[in-house]
Amino acid sequence: MLPFIPEPLRIDNVRTKDGAGLDVLRADLVHPVISGNKWFKLRYYLEELQEQRRRHIITFGGAYSNHIIATAAAAHALGLRCTGLIRGERPPVLSPTLIHAQQLGMQLHFLSREVYKEKEVPAALRSEDMYVIPEGGYGAKGAAGAGTMLSGNTRIYSHICCATGTGTMMAGLQNAAAPGQEIIGISVLKNNHDLENEVRQLLHRPHQPVTLLHQYAGKGYGRHTPELLAFMNEWYEQTGIPGDFVYTGKLFFAVNELLRQGFFPTGSKILLIHSGGLQGNASLTKGTLIFGDY
Ligand SMILES: *Cc1c(COP(=O)(O)O)cnc(C)c1O
Repeated sequence: MLPFIPEPLRIDNVRTKDGAGLDVLRADLVHPVISGNKWFKLRYYLEELQEQRRRHIITFGGAYSNHIIATAAAAHALGLRCTGLIRGERPPVLSPTLIHAQQLGMQLHFLSREVYKEKEVPAALRSEDMYVIPEGGYGAKGAAGAGTMLSGNTRIYSHICCATGTGTMMAGLQNAAAPGQEIIGISVLKNNHDLENEVRQLLHRPHQPVTLLHQYAGKGYGRHTPELLAFMNEWYEQTGIPGDFVYTGKLFFAVNELLRQGFFPTGSKILLIHSGGLQGNASLTKGTLIFGDY
């Protein structure tokens, strides 16, 4: 297991520009690289790997993936061999994420989009002691790990809102939620209508309602607009909390809008999950954001 989890996570109280009060669960602070929900999603995979005495982690992801960098850093911390199977042909210039992953000892292996889709480890890379972690940490273990972001001090909230990519974190939160707590997922992928089904596959009670909002994905995964970036700066000025443009920026934007629209009943107590991912901002032109080194 990784040794550095502070439990329970810190919760910050903030006020929006319109004067609404909200709380933010700071999972982004658990580790500088293995940040946010990626730490939590990895924890039970790493536990199983250690039980099975495997020494070589293999996982899948894109060139900017928070899961790739988190897995590289976890393998580094545990002294394990690590291979990243990366979607697409090797680009002439590696992304900041891949450069960092490589520095942490991850071996990069590029797969064409066609081959990548199969999610299979190429025969030449297989080894007896390999342990394969699914893309994005998707799966029951990933969800169970994400569920441990909640603890006694999060039981007071009526609504818990999170950014949603694969749906693993959302499902885990929903499985771990107290009775009556509503989990709201803000999808960051445009028109990803398989998502509800993917969340349901990880739910302990698959017939529960699933609240996913699709209208805040903007131009789609990893795409940003001047409006989103301006909001992230404004939000930082207002709350002191940095976001990333792929996930949490969209979450903060969405919740700010939902509050304006009166989406939440009076008396709601709202918790936002800061799921980390700030390293993704490294691909922005320097000076775009007023926080971090981006
Ligand atoms: C991966 C990620 C998510 C999405 O988590 P899923 O479990 O894939 O839905 C949200 N926020 C951040 C910062 C992430 O890196």
